[in-house]
Amino acid sequence: MKRATLEGLAPDGGLYVPSEVPRFSEEELGLLESGSFNNVAFAIAKKFAGEEIPLDILSRLIDECFTFETPLKELSADTFVEELFHGPTLAFKDYGARFLARMTGFFAAEDQKMITVLVATSGDTGSAVAYGFHGIPNTRVVLLYPSGKVSRLQEQQLTTAGDNVFALEVKGDFDDCQRLVKQAFVDSDMKQKLTLTSANSINISRLIPQSFYYAWASLQLRKRFPGKLPLFSVPSGNYGNLTAGVMAKMMGFPIGHFIAASNANDSVTRYLEEGRFEPKPTVTTMTTAMDVGNPSNFARLRHFFDGDFRRMGVEISGAAVSDAETLEAIRSVYNSCGYVMDPHTAVGYRALERYRQENPGQEYPGVVLSTAHPVKFDDAIMTAIGKEVPIPVEMTEIMEKKKNATLIGNGYEELARFLSNLDQQ
Ligand SMILES: *Cc1c(COP(=O)(O)O)cnc(C)c1O
Repeated sequence: MKRATLEGLAPDGGLYVPSEVPRFSEEELGLLESGSFNNVAFAIAKKFAGEEIPLDILSRLIDECFTFETPLKELSADTFVEELFHGPTLAFKDYGARFLARMTGFFAAEDQKMITVLVATSGDTGSAVAYGFHGIPNTRVVLLYPSGKVSRLQEQQLTTAGDNVFALEVKGDFDDCQRLVKQAFVDSDMKQKLTLTSANSINISRLIPQSFYYAWASLQLRKRFPGKLPLFSVPSGNYGNLTAGVMAKMMGFPIGHFIAASNANDSVTRYLEEGRFEPKPTVTTMTTAMDVGNPSNFARLRHFFDGDFRRMGVEISGAAVSDAETLEAIRSVYNSCGYVMDPHTAVGYRALERYRQENPGQEYPGVVLSTAHPVKFDDAIMTAIGKEVPIPVEMTEIMEKKKNATLIGNGYEELARFLSNLDQQ
């Protein structure tokens, strides 16, 4: 766990997978049923990291991570939305980033090291990482984002955390940012000076905390729907979220089936149908956080099914949803339930609807994971229902903070100089 957290990628360049996914007994599940979200989170974290982190510290770290609610909202008798957007950056990436930050901080302190997290971001991951690591001892974050290519809210989220979080505004595009980060990771001079790590979605310590909300929801639903296992519809891009759900099911939590909901970037949907994985160049859609042509967690997901697409198909159904259907789903849910969902959530909702049409006659509660607050994608909401989304307080606070970023060119020297001088910052 420690190595996998601090290094991110295995030495051979592959992804770390848990050597064994721990299992919960029926008795343990019964006890957890009446526990809080944080009780469930602690029980899972303990199975993965309990040998490496003293339990009182682990419990405190969990409480520091999840200071916000994870509501399970009821849209109809058998359809729920699990709102994962009540963290500081209003998107579900807060779950992974906050846990990763605290694990990294703990392991770094143990080794008396300063870990420098280097991230290229086009928006959402970077802001969750910035706010996740903010104020965590023995860590600091350097974020690279493309100048003029992120929304104003995103830029505020990236550049206002301060303290141990440094934002670099790069005169270039996202690919330039990624190239610069890659270059730093292979720069042997830099390796001598700094302990660099990445915080991308393949880090196992980002994945484990995402199993918490599947586990928690499945236990809540078991009390209401005895004997009927819930189905989770997961709006997917890099497939980290879905992989975490599959892990929760392997741990023994009462989960029936998954829907891998995608937009036009449908390489996994096609794999589930045809058994061939053919990543394609990324297509731009309305649900930008899911625009991933070659999902990096797919290898790990496939590993859990021994590379057998038919076995994967028993647990997971794929559904690709168009932008037009996404808008229509936002509209119809608003009209029938008065509930406003962001476009990513709407992809999950539409995928669940389609699955139910194609597989009639079954009874089970369906849960759509809501991955972002609608205010983050208010243009789409305006297009769909002609309404403004009220701005939550967390966001007004962030919008009022002062931007603090260092502008750099897209050549490596400037980044290298900045990193070399970090200790003087
Ligand atoms: C990152 C993100 C996704 C995709 O999650 P993956 O774990 O990459 O599949 C979906 N919705 C939103 C809002 C996101 O930020």
